[in-house]
Amino acid sequence: MKFATKLIHAGVEPDVASGAIMTPIYQTSTYVQEAPGVHKGYEYARTQNPTRTALEKNLAALENGKDAICFGSGLAAMDAILKMLNPGDEIVSTNDLYGGSYRLMVKGYEKYGIKAHFVDMTDEEAVRNAINSNTKLMWIETPTNPLLRIVDISAMCTIAHEFGLLAVVDNTFASPYLQKPIDLGADMVLHSATKYLGGHSDTVLGAVVTSTEEQADELRYVQNAAGAVPGPMDCFLVLRGIKTLHVRVRQACKNAKDIARFLKEHSAVDNVYYPGFEDHPGHKIAKKQMKKFGAMVSFDLKNDTIENANAVLSGTKFFSLAESLGGVESLIGHPASMTHGAIPREQRLKVGLTDSLIRLSIGIEDYEDLLSDLEVALSKAK
Ligand SMILES: *Cc1c(COP(=O)(O)O)cnc(C)c1O
Repeated sequence: MKFATKLIHAGVEPDVASGAIMTPIYQTSTYVQEAPGVHKGYEYARTQNPTRTALEKNLAALENGKDAICFGSGLAAMDAILKMLNPGDEIVSTNDLYGGSYRLMVKGYEKYGIKAHFVDMTDEEAVRNAINSNTKLMWIETPTNPLLRIVDISAMCTIAHEFGLLAVVDNTFASPYLQKPIDLGADMVLHSATKYLGGHSDTVLGAVVTSTEEQADELRYVQNAAGAVPGPMDCFLVLRGIKTLHVRVRQACKNAKDIARFLKEHSAVDNVYYPGFEDHPGHKIAKKQMKKFGAMVSFDLKNDTIENANAVLSGTKFFSLAESLGGVESLIGHPASMTHGAIPREQRLKVGLTDSLIRLSIGIEDYEDLLSDLEVALSKAK
């Protein structure tokens, strides 16, 4: 099966009882047994649910993995992976990591004796230097948020395997339409399906796709034992969203490319962060490992103040001011005061996260409307 066919058909069968073409929302907590222990493979809905099973099979196929295990959110999925570690183990990760992932590693797991090191993952030497005999896990995220840096997945996985580490890629920003980390050597892939996979800003869900049955068994144990499972309605919504992933992401990438070019020419705009530009430091790697350059674009203003950013942020009509990304509708955000507000200003500026930095999640509206929306908003910049 090719990719678009997998999106629509993998893991999904017409309902046996009725022939319904859409996977039913099995809104049930338990399953009736014919006799003690005689059942259809389903006993209790924390352990298994047919709507969830369909989504898990579909996700495993999309990422060319062995299996997938779904959780109540992207961070719950990450939590299950971190539970595979033991006290004394260490993690090596990127210094440009999703804020919630950073928080979970540091505030969530340091007290259990797990230490994370955050390095510039575009620097192979820095990565090697951060690995020691206790390091067990490499956590990769690319493109990064909000500066859209690109990490070379296959180079990182090669280093990880040289030292016997598990290599995990958070593939939320790219989606499996643009990037397939397991094909590039990753052991596991994390998704916040809340974003591109669901695609309609109507649910929160997470998943891990594994490359071996052993990893899947371990995660399935955590899924059942800790119980951070998604409800069947959420699994249904993600399954439905996935069917149009390719057309949505293709259109969003096209809009993003045109908007990035427009921003680059604008007199009020300073830097534009978009891996599709040939002078982006990660452009060559992005071209190698991604199908297109994604639909996230960040930029900052020549007059770099929070007030100036606010003038632009409150001047849009179709770009809604909100956290999150990956939906059909375009969103605009201000990392310094929203997603990255907890990072001290000095540290923020050091990594290039300026006061006026604005992040766009480009949706699939008509390009002309998005463009005139930004034109009006940017005319408010001083
Ligand atoms: C949103 C996000 C997460 C967390 O996912 P939730 O579904 O919100 O828990 C993890 N990684 C990245 C890159 C994200 O954008």
